[in-house]
Amino acid sequence: MIDAPHIIPLDIHTDNITDVTCQGAHYDATSSVWYTEPHELNETLHDYVYDTDSFNIVAPYYLVITSKMACWTCQQSTRIHGVMFTRFIKQNQDGKGWQSVQRNSFLFHINYLPEEIKKNIKASNYYLDKSKTTGLRYWMNHCEICGERLGDYELFCVEDDAFRLMTIEKLLRANVRKVNKLFVSMAGNPADQNSKDVVRYLCDARFVMNGPERL
Ligand SMILES: [Zn+2]
Repeated sequence: MIDAPHIIPLDIHTDNITDVTCQGAHYDATSSVWYTEPHELNETLHDYVYDTDSFNIVAPYYLVITSKMACWTCQQSTRIHGVMFTRFIKQNQDGKGWQSVQRNSFLFHINYLPEEIKKNIKASNYYLDKSKTTGLRYWMNHCEICGERLGDYELFCVEDDAFRLMTIEKLLRANVRKVNKLFVSMAGNPADQNSKDVVRYLCDARFVMNGPERL
């Protein structure tokens, strides 16, 4: 738990920790996130800051998992991408602080990504789009063959979805890339700015073993 409404996450991956702590950087041990507060930001720490001020989720590093699925429109096989954390902080609902979490989790319904992260995800069929069914605007997978939108609700929130209950066997076939850089984003925004709708944006990654074949 970080008891500060406004924090500035820092992309610190250095062994020279004494330097940055002397400069006013703080470390949250549960999430491994470095941050400072607006009144403590100085020129040295500025080098570690992303150009963004609107976010509700921060992770010290992230995994880009690229798996395959059959498109539900053209039935062809297409790559799909998911962002996973093993630790992170998320803003409390009331906006008055941050909760530290250590759990394998997928992030989805991502509304905003800083440039620093976009260039590291590098997937031509994963880009900002608007869902036909929910009206939500977020970073979305698209079929590489027919361009169909492959919405996050179906990929992360239903029984038997592509990511959440991914089998170990499937994970071993997937491409898992660790990006050892700070992750900062806004996720779970409702379709209408003034709406109080709750949009899910995190789920546990529960990798399961395939059971023995049933006879
Ligand atoms: Zn398709």
